[in-house]
Amino acid sequence: MNSSQSGQATLCVPDLKGKVILITGGSTGIGAAAARAFGRNGAKVALNYNASGAEAERVSDGIKASGGEAVLIQGDVTQPDASARITAEAVRAFGRIDVLVNNAGALVRRTPVDQYTDEFVDAVLDLNVKQVVRFIRDVSIQMRKQGSGGSIINVSSIAARHGGGPGSVIYAAAKGFIATATRGWAKELVKDRIRVNAVSPGVIDTPFHERYSTAEQLAAMQATIPMNRIGTSEECVGAFLYLASEELSGYVTGQIMEVNGGQYMP
Ligand code: NDP
Repeated sequence: MNSSQSGQATLCVPDLKGKVILITGGSTGIGAAAARAFGRNGAKVALNYNASGAEAERVSDGIKASGGEAVLIQGDVTQPDASARITAEAVRAFGRIDVLVNNAGALVRRTPVDQYTDEFVDAVLDLNVKQVVRFIRDVSIQMRKQGSGGSIINVSSIAARHGGGPGSVIYAAAKGFIATATRGWAKELVKDRIRVNAVSPGVIDTPFHERYSTAEQLAAMQATIPMNRIGTSEECVGAFLYLASEELSGYVTGQIMEVNGGQYMP
């Protein structure tokens, strides 16, 4: 295992020091790894979580121990007023927001076509689409007020490219919405010097797959990956740091960055 797989990598991005990062779903998996990496780079992290309070505390402690600052903001992002409240709390804590990471998301449950219900479709879209739209609105308004630009990083998925695995079509389509909207928001917000990009993970070993995928399903996915292994959350971190950094990606907007071991090459 190399250092980025095991999470020991220290990726040093000087212009992130003191930057304020609001990250949704920062308690576990990819969001937690990104939050820790922002902390290691001296950023101030406003970390949203919902159910995983103890895990969020551990991420926050890690950020503080490594030289960053952290504030925890509990909240179910699917609640219509959550984005406005979480945005306001981040600004109250740190005075501004420089980077938004729209990471919270989930498959909800694997559901074949003949079992679709309005309740199921709403649940997938509420979590993977509608709350992201609200955060884009509320945080871009805040960034515009600040007048110094910003970076918004959405989280799409390889599922957006291939339509999803068994029972995950609505989730895949929701992530396709995010990829398409990322390009549109990038064009609309460029006048405010707000860059909008997305990270599109492949199959990454997080609580997501513990919840939604069997060992057989994971083995079948792995067989389609040229690197012949599942990725780690830490291996997604570089993409977030790169897209957050004005110094590294100041001329990059509207891009979907694939992190997938070669599983899909657009
Ligand atoms: P995890 O389940 O580890 O993380 C999901 C995060 O989202 C948790 O922090 C969770 O918080 C948060 N979350 C879920 N629902 C809500 C909610 N209603 N309100 C606030 N926060 C919420 O999975 P991953 O790290 O794998 O997923 C992160 C992102 O990556 C998601 O958008 C996912 O769709 C995407 N993705 C993952 C892939 C993978 O293979 N793992 C592949 C492609 C995309 P809490 O536990 O505190 O409720």
